[in-house]
Amino acid sequence: MPRPISASISLSALTHNLNTIRDQYLPEEVPPNLARPGVWAVIKANAYGHGVDNAVRAFAQADGLAMLDLDEAVRCRERGWQKPILMLEGFFEPRDIPVLQQYRLHTTLHCSEQLDMLEAARLSGPPDGAPEHIRLDAFVKLDSGMSRLGFSPSQYRQAFERAQRLQQNGLLDHVGKMTHFARADDNPDITREQVELFNRCTEGLPGPVSVCNSAGTLTPGLWATAHGEQGHWVRPGICLYGASPFAQRSAEQLGLRPAMTLASRIISIREIPPGACVGYGHLFHADKPMRIGVVACGYADGYPRHAATDAPITVDGVRTRVLGRVSMDMLVADLGPVPQARVGSPVVLWGEGGPSVDEVAQAAGTIGYELLCAVAPRVPKFVQQENT
Ligand SMILES: *Cc1c(COP(=O)(O)O)cnc(C)c1O
Repeated sequence: MPRPISASISLSALTHNLNTIRDQYLPEEVPPNLARPGVWAVIKANAYGHGVDNAVRAFAQADGLAMLDLDEAVRCRERGWQKPILMLEGFFEPRDIPVLQQYRLHTTLHCSEQLDMLEAARLSGPPDGAPEHIRLDAFVKLDSGMSRLGFSPSQYRQAFERAQRLQQNGLLDHVGKMTHFARADDNPDITREQVELFNRCTEGLPGPVSVCNSAGTLTPGLWATAHGEQGHWVRPGICLYGASPFAQRSAEQLGLRPAMTLASRIISIREIPPGACVGYGHLFHADKPMRIGVVACGYADGYPRHAATDAPITVDGVRTRVLGRVSMDMLVADLGPVPQARVGSPVVLWGEGGPSVDEVAQAAGTIGYELLCAVAPRVPKFVQQENT
């Protein structure tokens, strides 16, 4: 028998979240003079741990997919994804360029080295055997206050003009404008300043615009404040998976459903007397007789080691807490509130029927993103069977 741990992925929850984001946060009629933005469903990091193949199926109604890894992009094409694919970091070396062409991938252009590579590729012509005249779509990225990827405000126009020359020379097709928000989850003033800077830097430049991660997308109307006469795109990621980008608003409050459920079972039960200590480092001391259960899940499965005593966990449908330190393969749950628990009782670490991944993350001093991406390869993943 395999260890009783698994991660089940709900395709219907993924689809529900995409539809909710569209219907509730990007309504057709607001604002009246703009077309609804296209949605790039961000599926980087193996779809935040949910599996690229699952994402391709569940997000069939998205307008495009966005990711970082060329191999993942190729996989999406091989799975039949026909609509646009955006590479969020663009390409890394000259030999990536024919791959972008062959698989019709949109590239981000965020540094002058990438423009150098494109200019050189134009002069050298297509490599042997590569199809001629496949023009790439691109978004030129502005660093509007994240100090990560993108041209600085003073470099932006010149970079955009270089991209436009590549357009005239036949290497690029559509060229758009893009930026990324640093604090859309917690600071509307700084986000507004980023949008204003973006609008100043891109004023008069043609092409669609792409702003808004999940926190930006879930802020009604924010996308429309970026000037984009030729269309808008948003780039939600985490919210598609049913986790919240906001510290103060839960995924449930946002109308989202958890797409991943990490579940296991109780594999041993013991009664401990007052004064007994639990786990490595004896971090937890019982001050009364307690009934505790050992759960087959540890940090080697991707459960955060920093989620010690008091992290929420559900045993047999009842919410209780973790006791002491999380070990590599096991953790201990307080069975006080669950007198009916037996060896074999089901445990939900996070997801449907358990605490949200964000609650567990908070107990561990991190964010749901990290936990979803970090579920270990040794944990078997299943697509949840659903009668929908
Ligand atoms: C990861 C990422 C997103 C999505 O961010 P979420 O917070 O998960 O919605 C959007 N744009 C870029 C450039 C990203 O790297």
